[in-house]
Amino acid sequence: MKTMTCRQLGGPCDHPHTGETADDVIKAQDRHLREAVRAGDTTHQQAHEDMKGRWRRPVKALGWYRDAKKSFAALPSAG
Ligand SMILES: [Zn+2]
Repeated sequence: MKTMTCRQLGGPCDHPHTGETADDVIKAQDRHLREAVRAGDTTHQQAHEDMKGRWRRPVKALGWYRDAKKSFAALPSAG
């Protein structure tokens, strides 16, 4: 398991996401952004829009995913 924070994934806070794969933490971040915005948190609005845009235009977002996966791969594993 590895941990990436909301900030490491382009968000504004230090909320940690843990997962086995980069996809896990990216999905957790997506959920976190959606929940924060739904709860009225305006600081997460921009990151949420960015994430929604990535789902809509996956080809354009490939670079972002590659970077996120690279960051995830470079993290020390917590076991
Ligand atoms: Zn956050």
